[in-house]
Amino acid sequence: MIYLDYAATTPVEESVYQVVQKALKESFSNPSSSYQSGKKIKYLIQQARERILNQLNLSDRSLYFTSGATESNNWAIRIQAEKSKELGYGNHIVATSIEHPSVLNVLKYLETKGFEVTYLDPIDGNYEVDQFIKATTPQTSGWVCMWINNEIGTQLPVHSLGEIAPNYVKWYHVDAVQAMGYYANKFTDLQATSISISGHKIYAPKGIGALIYQPFHSNSLLVPLLWGGGQEHGLRSGTENTPYILGLDEAISHLNDEAFQQVVALEKYLLSRLEETSIQFERNGENTVPYIINLYFPQLLASQLLIQLDLEGMAVSAGSACSSGSLLASPVLKAYYPADENRYTHSIRVSIGKLTTKDEIDNFIITLEKIHERMMQNGI
Ligand code: PMP
Repeated sequence: MIYLDYAATTPVEESVYQVVQKALKESFSNPSSSYQSGKKIKYLIQQARERILNQLNLSDRSLYFTSGATESNNWAIRIQAEKSKELGYGNHIVATSIEHPSVLNVLKYLETKGFEVTYLDPIDGNYEVDQFIKATTPQTSGWVCMWINNEIGTQLPVHSLGEIAPNYVKWYHVDAVQAMGYYANKFTDLQATSISISGHKIYAPKGIGALIYQPFHSNSLLVPLLWGGGQEHGLRSGTENTPYILGLDEAISHLNDEAFQQVVALEKYLLSRLEETSIQFERNGENTVPYIINLYFPQLLASQLLIQLDLEGMAVSAGSACSSGSLLASPVLKAYYPADENRYTHSIRVSIGKLTTKDEIDNFIITLEKIHERMMQNGI
């Protein structure tokens, strides 16, 4: 298999695997136990928490381990919105229309409970801070903006929003899942009350993530979503997943600039190789990251192309894995290209990572050319 779907998930890095395996065997005691082996595990978890925050240069903030970004997004948005309403800060939220389903569906749920949400579409391919300000009313308690879009790789102005957010809202949530792997050094300037991260996009296992939290004006809006034994400083109950927490810490300790330079070179290579072919294409999105390359092939139906690529052993997807099973027109492409219906059904996402090689890209291009020729002959 040639794997070109790193934005969907990544393989577990060998050293992470070793750490997880060791912890599964040796660190099995319950961290809440009063005896020594339990206390030792509690200490290891605390150490992992501190190391992650240090690595991100965020040691002044709090970090709570969760089961992944879906939980972190649900928790941060629902709880901050509900607490704000309870405290009389208003029931209105401003969010982008291109968020991940784990954000959009929380917002939809909140709408059924009396909240109002303004969904912002990009203007001429970009989001501007002014759009958030203009949409803000005296009833607006929070803003929601993802850092990097998972389908087309566009970068949103999360840092500039953070600079002014405390002047306009009580809370500001950033889904940083697709940024974590390559922009760990840019978290320090990100002023947000809550930030979600996920392990399986950065070579750690699935089912582990975190919520990083710091209130704007010292009064915390974060209360538990899950009630139980009071783990994670009383905010996220449930016996800690020690092996995966240590694995997440290990994965984060491997993030470096070299990996970024590598994907920049591979992105360039892929696009130049594609330009050498006779295949008509355009890259979707402006101001995109190098590791998510969403390609529009006006002559190739994405559903057919993906089947053909799959038969040739290429793992590529059409935008978000969570919605690609049904291959509905992507809401993200709809938002960016409102007048270009053909694009919604003729685009695929190629996402590259640490293990991607030039050979794999060559192989992908050769296969694509072969499929293109076949599909053109068959008039698909
Ligand atoms: N947000 C974004 C932007 C994502 O890409 C994903 C994973 N597809 C999630 C949230 C959900 O993360 P998890 O799989 O850890 O629940």
